[in-house]
Amino acid sequence: MKNCLFCSIINQQIPAAVVYEDEFMLVIKDINPQAPVHLLCMPKTHITGLDTLKENDAVLIGHIMLKISEIAKQQGLAEAGYRVISNVGQNGRQSVRHLHFHLVGGRELSETLG
Ligand code: AMP
Ligand code: ZN
Repeated sequence: MKNCLFCSIINQQIPAAVVYEDEFMLVIKDINPQAPVHLLCMPKTHITGLDTLKENDAVLIGHIMLKISEIAKQQGLAEAGYRVISNVGQNGRQSVRHLHFHLVGGRELSETLG
């Protein structure tokens, strides 16, 4: 998708710190980390957000969730715990309209979700 920051990163037009990649998804370090570990986990196909998911995206989303669980273990987050967040739309303050899941951990996170 043209003019999409994350599509540009996926297409290697814009550099990013890649932590994990496969045929279906990319995981990069957030450029403005909110915790010691702050990763962005996204499908390689352009889906704008959780609000536009289709029935046939179910296998892809399942794959992404399983990988997030694995990556959290690899990052040493599993024992103490972590948070997975997907902001959606205006009220959710989604700033990049390409579906992504924030994987945040490495410190105790705030009690509120904002
Ligand atoms: P959201 O507000 O949920 O759409 O999250 C977008 C995230 O992308 C924010 O946490 C930003 O810090 C992050 N971000 C913006 N530009 C880049 C970039 N070039 N590389 C990595 N992360 C980025
Ligand atoms: Zn995109």
